[in-house]
Amino acid sequence: MRECARGEHCAARTTTVQDGRITVHPARTYRPFCDPDVARLRSVLTDLPRRYAELCARLGERSRPADGPRVSGGGRSTIPLNLGHEAFLRELATIVLSWEETVRTTARLAPVTVSRHPGRAAVSRACATLRAHIEVLLSCPPTPMLRTLDLARAETVPDAEADTAWVHAGWIGAVVELDGAAAGIELFNLHHRALARLGWTPQHHDLRTPCWDCDLPRLRRWDGTAGLSDHVECRECGSQYVGERLRLLMAAEEQLARNPKAS
Ligand SMILES: [Zn+2]
Ligand SMILES: [Zn+2]
Repeated sequence: MRECARGEHCAARTTTVQDGRITVHPARTYRPFCDPDVARLRSVLTDLPRRYAELCARLGERSRPADGPRVSGGGRSTIPLNLGHEAFLRELATIVLSWEETVRTTARLAPVTVSRHPGRAAVSRACATLRAHIEVLLSCPPTPMLRTLDLARAETVPDAEADTAWVHAGWIGAVVELDGAAAGIELFNLHHRALARLGWTPQHHDLRTPCWDCDLPRLRRWDGTAGLSDHVECRECGSQYVGERLRLLMAAEEQLARNPKAS
């Protein structure tokens, strides 16, 4: 048994308070991620192609000149109005497609015969493949993977893991050893960054029921719109409400909402 690779973001984490200090304990699991996080990863893989398409559409709107002069040469006027945006889409496609290739090789699936050009169709297909073979993905041994980042984020290249890193025209490339757990973390992060770029702002819900552990009315249900967070957390003592405890708490909250004077 080991700790769930999502660490303090683990969906089934517990917290303990000792001498006023809060400690987060990720769930113990035989696999890289606990079962609730594997379920979340599945919903991330379902949602990611839709977010990718939304971001592509937004990029198209922005880079289409309204009344500007036609740009000659190649017929494609790709004025990079938002370099970071384009770089992110490329990074997303690269990562998703690289894991698809690894999974196809490991699971002995037929190689992709259609165009390998990263685009909406390729990203959708790759996510569907990863979702269907999620156990293969998560049990991947460390594999050298090529990752590129724009220079602004060069500090995020883990130099201890990077066998090779090189810089070219605004890019930094690195070969890093990544395993199945790292794949899951990459996918969770890509989804989170896609939502942030789309301006997705979570709608949290503050409960009226006081926390069962510290008696203070500091409970918050984190927005689960993206299927990423279905739990209540006390912002005072850090106590977590998941599973059966969450169900009981929400029943109590409903009672309180119906009959506020009863408490
Ligand atoms: Zn977990
Ligand atoms: Zn509390």
